[in-house]
Amino acid sequence: VDLLVDYGYAIRPGGGDREQQFSCDLHGDGRDVKPSARVYPETNSWYCWACSKSRDLIDTVRDKEDLGFMESIDLLEKKFGLSPLPWEDGETYERKTTPKEEILSTLNPQKTFQDDKTRLETFLGTLTAERSSPLKSLLTWWEAFDKIAFWVFKEKISEMDGRLLMTSLRTEIQKRVKEAAECSTK
Ligand SMILES: [Zn+2]
Repeated sequence: VDLLVDYGYAIRPGGGDREQQFSCDLHGDGRDVKPSARVYPETNSWYCWACSKSRDLIDTVRDKEDLGFMESIDLLEKKFGLSPLPWEDGETYERKTTPKEEILSTLNPQKTFQDDKTRLETFLGTLTAERSSPLKSLLTWWEAFDKIAFWVFKEKISEMDGRLLMTSLRTEIQKRVKEAAECSTK
């Protein structure tokens, strides 16, 4: 609701869980004279019958701004003063260079968000037990893991986006760990 209000949609803020109908500008000529969209605060999503599409926060930013998945998350973090998803400590990481489609292509369709979550949890558990990574990095990674799990649990993001985030986080950590290992053997 906050995001839609922010974008200037005719939504009344502070309506609690009340569903509200509004005009969507993301289809046709953007005028939507008979409001086709409805917001569902309980699931943090809205559906437009004319678009035949349900959108969460990230989808909304993507479609409004024509941005990629990671860039949309960046924008949401800035807009709402959220702490950034922690895999970057000052670095911009490859948010800009790994398109969603590329990460998507690495996802096993037989698996679920729960599988990806368990896989990363196990990996992080091993890293933590090994004590070979800096404590600060470990904490940052666990925090990111928890945040993604929480977002999916609270249905702030879809399970598919959760899988993407879990997978890109795991890939990034693996890269860091590998780099650190190479540094120490040199
Ligand atoms: Zn629409």
